[in-house]
Amino acid sequence: MQYTIMIIEDEEALALMLRYNLEKEGYNVVAESRGSRAIAEVEKHMPSVILLDWMLPEISGVEICKLIRSKPDIKNIPIIMLTAKGEEEDKVKGLSAGADDYVTKPFSVPELLARVKSQLRHAPEPASEKEIMFEDIRMDLVEKKVFRGENYIHLGPTEFRLLKMLMETPGKVFSREILLKTVWGDNIYVESRTVDVHIRRLRKSLNEYGPDYIRTVRASGYAIDSSLSEEE
Ligand code: CA
Repeated sequence: MQYTIMIIEDEEALALMLRYNLEKEGYNVVAESRGSRAIAEVEKHMPSVILLDWMLPEISGVEICKLIRSKPDIKNIPIIMLTAKGEEEDKVKGLSAGADDYVTKPFSVPELLARVKSQLRHAPEPASEKEIMFEDIRMDLVEKKVFRGENYIHLGPTEFRLLKMLMETPGKVFSREILLKTVWGDNIYVESRTVDVHIRRLRKSLNEYGPDYIRTVRASGYAIDSSLSEEE
């Protein structure tokens, strides 16, 4: 089973560092930097734990925390507030707004991971899929491994995320912009050509053991599809 952890944080470097460490622990990570989008993203991803920054543009972490607690479908999701050092008053406010735990910046990664794990102890097991299949391609989402038939395919983390996105909705054409936003995250500046580079790598690894199912749609983006001819 794979738990989804959501990071609501506008500091890019911190969000990236958190993503890296949480993914290393085997969690699925989603991140949002804008307070105004946070609630919609929580409802969309239904994470098992939320790491919520105190200081966000537009809406404060405390406001978001209160909003989450007021919505029946998401109100039970554990929230760990991230805040600046030594603001005891913030801690009280955060906890009274409904946060379950509180970590002061700068925090140690092992400490944060322990807090996350502790919150997960009370979380229901995620209902998300353990495996996705497309034709002869199988993604083991728990072990983070990809197989084509009996063959293990080694993929880098970016290629893995790209493939997962394509395989979750076969036939759907994903634009480079959408792939960038979902696979790399909102705040990271990556040129859209980078998507092409990683798709090329993904194809190279996958096609070693079977036909090319990744379809390039001129001026639109990419899809995974076994029924249509390629448009390279
Ligand atoms: Ca912040």
